[in-house]
Amino acid sequence: MAKSPDKCSFCGRSKRETRMLIAGLEGHICDHCVLQAQLILQEELGTEKHKDLPDFVPMKPIEIKKYLDQFVIGQDEAKKVIAVAVYNHYKRLAHSKDAKANDVEIEKSNIVIVGETGTGKTLLARTVAKMLNVPFCIGDATALTEAGYVGEDVESILARLLQVADYNIAAAERGIVFIDEIDKIARKSDNPSITRDVSGEGVQQALLKMLEGSIVNVPPQGGRKHPEQKMLQINTQNILFITGGAFDGIEKKISNRLQTNKIGYKTDRKQETIDKDNILQYITPVDLKAFGLIPELVGRLPIVTHMHTLDRNTLRRILTEPKNSLIKQYTKLFELDNIKLTFEEEALDFIVDKAIEFKLGARGLRSILEGIMNDAMFELPSKNNTKTFIVSASFVKSQFMKTSMAQLKVA
Ligand code: ADP
Repeated sequence: MAKSPDKCSFCGRSKRETRMLIAGLEGHICDHCVLQAQLILQEELGTEKHKDLPDFVPMKPIEIKKYLDQFVIGQDEAKKVIAVAVYNHYKRLAHSKDAKANDVEIEKSNIVIVGETGTGKTLLARTVAKMLNVPFCIGDATALTEAGYVGEDVESILARLLQVADYNIAAAERGIVFIDEIDKIARKSDNPSITRDVSGEGVQQALLKMLEGSIVNVPPQGGRKHPEQKMLQINTQNILFITGGAFDGIEKKISNRLQTNKIGYKTDRKQETIDKDNILQYITPVDLKAFGLIPELVGRLPIVTHMHTLDRNTLRRILTEPKNSLIKQYTKLFELDNIKLTFEEEALDFIVDKAIEFKLGARGLRSILEGIMNDAMFELPSKNNTKTFIVSASFVKSQFMKTSMAQLKVA
């Protein structure tokens, strides 16, 4: 093989077109070809990785919820619904392994979580994956388009899962995929339009097969499929899809269905009182359809749950209670410099107040804390005689005034 200094000797890609070009005695090989070669080896030799994955430790729904409680504050209904769905999903998986031909086939239980941004949808999905120790990836529905149009194919999400699973197909095939912003691919209007809706309904159609469970050809490195590329086949039968979205305005559709409006809250049905402040709790698949998800997609997402807007009390708990809460993380960071960090209660209250005032939700807690703690994190590591540091309300207030956030007008 002729050694060309800046080309892959296998595919001819120039150095610029690769991420890495590895030199051998007589030639070069690029990262694309290394990956392709690895896949060929896996397929031909059936490497160990593809065999016997450990069985899941059977965890009952109550135990699953308890596990989730350590990381996700509040959102009890969603946690319960997801605990049951996950339990059934993995029970189904175990059942399908030793099922006989004429056994009852248990269908997949993909999930939709409806709730404002920053209420913990991704956190919940990620925590479930962590608990089960299965590959997990996040895809964004807004980036997807129908095949053949500018944007990403739906299969690109599976390529990401495969990457996370270290190209272990068997592991990826029982992973969890979180598809965010599923509400953004809702049908734009009820009227069939003259132009194709390639990022809305087109994507919904493309997602159907994947969600239902089928063999999907996945380009290993993601991106668009192209003819010379070797495809990997992934069976999505046992992949749990959790989708999430804010579904802005869906409350109105729910209210309409409940034959009430946001002001009237008595229905004639059973004279039941409707909690108008928490309309989302009444969400059903019918409302998702009314919002613009096609019936086939709604059918493949049978589990529907919702997240509450985070109130003051929940935000306050989020600061300190989760296993890896922000306060625990800062305490650990300081501890690594041998400094004992403590926060006064009023200091924490102030941080929560600001997150509410600026409507920043749980994500805002972190940016506020960063701003407040930056000076201390800059100076204290060099002060050898500082062994304790108490974050008081007055310290927090004065530090906050220095941050750029303090200059902002409340929206
Ligand atoms: P979403 O997916 O709903 O937009 P995320 O799950 O990404 O929201 O939440 C953003 C961040 O806010 C998370 O990383 C987490 O730190 C925090 N957070 C949000 N909701 C909760 C909650 N219920 N319990 C604990 N932390 C939360």
